[in-house]
Amino acid sequence: MATDKTAEMDSAKRIALVAHDNKKDDLLEWAQFNQGTLARHRLYATGTTGTVLSRELGLVITKLQSGPLGGDQQIGAKIAEKEIDFLIFFWDPLAAQPHDPDVKALLRLAVVWNIPVAMNRTTADFLISSPLMNQEYTRRLTDYTKYKNRLNRGK
Ligand code: PGA
Repeated sequence: MATDKTAEMDSAKRIALVAHDNKKDDLLEWAQFNQGTLARHRLYATGTTGTVLSRELGLVITKLQSGPLGGDQQIGAKIAEKEIDFLIFFWDPLAAQPHDPDVKALLRLAVVWNIPVAMNRTTADFLISSPLMNQEYTRRLTDYTKYKNRLNRGK
């Protein structure tokens, strides 16, 4: 049972897929190779990434806004709401993005909420082949109680 200190991950994971433009081919190739596995999970993606993956592979994907138009922030919000529990994010290390702050915010929230994140193909390969992909998993959350109560001291 989920508590304030844990979050439940179902055997069907809620996976967010995001790729910057120069990394979309890379993600598409990876997703094609893992198509059967991905189809067993619930998929979300930023707008253009989702359009490419659903058009090329026929995957059923919930598409959010394009990244620079708020899609990364939508995914971050869903992570904070415990509606997404897995992130595959192929970001481009060689190109500045107009939405760099959003990228940083998304990666930060993934750490805050302790979800698995793959930022390149090798990590994605290791994650997707983990036996935990097909099992329920109780994720431990950092106890932020002290942080949340920080202004209540002495009251
Ligand atoms: P896109 O957004 O899938 O709409 O291209 C990705 C991103 O840059 O965050």
